[in-house]
Amino acid sequence: MDEIMRKLKVMYTEEQIQKRIQEMAEQLDKDYQGKDLIVISVLKGAIFFSVDLVKKMKTPVIFDMMQVSSYQGTQSTGNVIIKKDLDEDISGKDVLILEDIIDTGYTLQYLKEYLQTLNPSSLKIAVLADKKERREIDVDIDYTGFEIENKFIVGYGFDIDQKYRNIPYIGYIEE
Ligand code: 5GP
Repeated sequence: MDEIMRKLKVMYTEEQIQKRIQEMAEQLDKDYQGKDLIVISVLKGAIFFSVDLVKKMKTPVIFDMMQVSSYQGTQSTGNVIIKKDLDEDISGKDVLILEDIIDTGYTLQYLKEYLQTLNPSSLKIAVLADKKERREIDVDIDYTGFEIENKFIVGYGFDIDQKYRNIPYIGYIEE
């Protein structure tokens, strides 16, 4: 076991994550009943959450992905660039962004503004985790899995320098 794994404490177990995602899937099925929904999973972290969520939904979805990153390292700066753009045409469609976490808000603010320019008929956001305390810009979040305290989380898609995404639970490092 490496140093990180030794220090990692469980914040949400696999069972707790799946239970919450099931609730979110049921809510989304209600809200998007009869609609043609395009979900946009934000690579790479949100893939884990996105796959589990859409598999629990009964509404047929079109699954697309985008990848964005900040100019400077891993710190959110507001200088977001698109690394992978959409494949689908979202104009006139109902669109739901699936993101792993909202922290300062810069990434989702950028994505929301960009996607709005493509004229979807509706645009909503679902996040697995929300670190409210850290918010620097206001972004409306429509669906939230867990409101978490200001701790750096790892596992279930959340990385440290690209590593540890495959840990099946959400952990945090006790400083
Ligand atoms: P924002 O632009 O809202 O500040 O940042 C969102 C991005 O910051 C997420 O997509 C994620 O990559 C990263 N991030 C924020 N908090 C955490 C955390 O606790 N753990 C990990 N691994 N990444 C985080």
